[in-house]
Amino acid sequence: MWSYFYVPAERAAANGAGKRTSLTDGHVMKSMKPREGSQQSSSETKDLVVFDILCDSKCAECFQELWKGDFLFMEGQRPLCLSCADLDHLVYLPRGDTALTRRARKHSALSAVVVRFSRSRGRYERQGVLIEEPALERAEEECRAEPAERRAKRERDRLLRAKQDRDLTALMIERIIKLFPACPPEEARAIAAHTSVRGSGRVGRTSAGRALQEDALTAAVIAAIRHKHTPYDRLGCAVTAAGMHVTPSARRWIV
Ligand SMILES: [Zn+2]
Repeated sequence: MWSYFYVPAERAAANGAGKRTSLTDGHVMKSMKPREGSQQSSSETKDLVVFDILCDSKCAECFQELWKGDFLFMEGQRPLCLSCADLDHLVYLPRGDTALTRRARKHSALSAVVVRFSRSRGRYERQGVLIEEPALERAEEECRAEPAERRAKRERDRLLRAKQDRDLTALMIERIIKLFPACPPEEARAIAAHTSVRGSGRVGRTSAGRALQEDALTAAVIAAIRHKHTPYDRLGCAVTAAGMHVTPSARRWIV
């Protein structure tokens, strides 16, 4: 059902979606996973992908010019404007309000995920969704009707999670400095901040990482050294080769 998803990268690039990428990027894949329990698997038209284009293009059917920032839909190999793709009745809901988005998509028989290529990060990133207008209105009503105490609880939970994250990062900094006394504090701070990001799946978020176990934090430090103090980025996956070229300053952390 994800046939629209596998637009060849060069084709997407030709249509201004980006210069180099695979649409199978993990971030996008994750965000486009079919929702469990929905009837989506029976519908080919659910969760289509629409591109917020970076370069001008043209609809292959009506030849309308599509400018940077316009939405484009790929039907097989053909770029289409939303009218020709029969999607122009949908309204755009930018990302940001997750409760509203979740509800609106639930009520919308047809929806499309809008993605834009990030040149700096080299991947497609979700910008929002296109949904049916009545679904958005219904979702907005539901959100308004949500009891004030539930909204307050959600906000309290959010603040609590933020505090837990700050506390975890602070403990990790201490622990990294203890394990690697030669590691400069600002590097320890950067490593802890990076590895402890909630939802990142990084080693700092594993149970071992959150328990500040030596193995987990050592893995985080090694990953940081590999990225910042070796030619890893130039060598791509030739990690073993990169490992031979740790800069002298970073080598002092680990010996
Ligand atoms: Zn068109």
